[in-house]
Amino acid sequence: MKRNSGQDPEITKNWRPATQAIRGGTARSEYGETSEALFLTSGYAYDCAEDAAARFAGEQQGMTYSRLQNPTVEMLEQRIALMEGAEAARCTASGMAAMTASLLCQLQAGDHVVASRALFGSCRWLTDNLLPKFGIETTVIDGRDIANWEAATRPETKVFFFETPANPTMDIIDLKAVCDLAKQHGITTVVDNAFATNVLQRPMEFGADVVAYSATKMMDGQGRVLAGAICGTREFVDDTLLPFLRNTGPTLSAFNAWVVLKGLETLSLRIHKQSENAVKVAKFLESRVERVNYPGLEGHPQHNLAMAQMDAVGPIFSLYVGGGRERAHGVLNALNLIDISNNIGDSRSLMTHPASTTHSSMGEDARLEVGISEDMLRINVGLEDVEDILEDLDQALSSAGL
Ligand SMILES: *Cc1c(COP(=O)(O)O)cnc(C)c1O
Repeated sequence: MKRNSGQDPEITKNWRPATQAIRGGTARSEYGETSEALFLTSGYAYDCAEDAAARFAGEQQGMTYSRLQNPTVEMLEQRIALMEGAEAARCTASGMAAMTASLLCQLQAGDHVVASRALFGSCRWLTDNLLPKFGIETTVIDGRDIANWEAATRPETKVFFFETPANPTMDIIDLKAVCDLAKQHGITTVVDNAFATNVLQRPMEFGADVVAYSATKMMDGQGRVLAGAICGTREFVDDTLLPFLRNTGPTLSAFNAWVVLKGLETLSLRIHKQSENAVKVAKFLESRVERVNYPGLEGHPQHNLAMAQMDAVGPIFSLYVGGGRERAHGVLNALNLIDISNNIGDSRSLMTHPASTTHSSMGEDARLEVGISEDMLRINVGLEDVEDILEDLDQALSSAGL
């Protein structure tokens, strides 16, 4: 490996976040390339049979197989760990692979989970459908009230699982209060930080144990690849998570890791600019629709909590247009610039109808309980000129009678 400060923890730990996002974890080959190299290889060759044996025995540094290690993926893992302020991180093929692994690697039959009810649709599928098959029970609560976490805790509770802000209701959960309670009871907190990313919110600073990501969203940020990441202590990652990942194989491809490395270089710029655009769009919509769920607005009931634990509230929020599914679909169908798409975190503005797309598998009762009604829309505010976004919304709302 060539001279390179990105691999020296004594140097990288002192870098400020913007520097870590660009240079953290960079490992240079003998060619001294400036941009990270893409190692598209499934296997590795050894100089002699004894070296192969030593690597498998863990007595020699080096890679053996890309389900276990890959230089490009490792650069991304080191960069994400640095940005998070975590001892270690591992990447996965998607955000859902990260959520599934974060839970299953540490749970067993008889364990109990408390989860916030406002979760990404597939995360609710894990708690409601997958975990029970393995004898793991989940109590789903309104996570905004700390008393609910306390009341749901049992002697066999192993994990608190939540996202904040939550998709798509934008519920904010008090990171410090929930993590403090977990610590008192020896419970592991798993926080899905996909919406905010470590640029806007660092849950570990509030005591979170495990922070998991869909890197598909803001980290890639340009709607190109699926990826996930899990951050934790060195002990958690090495002893609990790694055996699960290495043997079940939800491995991130080197190519996708490389794309996310490039995405991280501009993450801070994008997420701050998109948050700024989102505030303008939310203010405009407030005057035109029944309600806007954007904790970045001063009138939002959880505005103070959001600002206490986040630097900005990000590009995503939801709104209620009234008139049921018909009007919600009418608004989407009248859009010219903004795409109808269920993705988020993209530099393009996107809108979706959660009840019939991202949260359709959740069931109507569960949807209504968390506030995902038929007239709710979710928007991802992009990097386009905000005036163009506002004009498109203006004409789409008008044509739907608003
Ligand atoms: C998208 C998303 C996921 C799932 O991530 P994928 O990369 O699509 O598998 C999990 N949690 C949240 C909050 C998300 O927005």
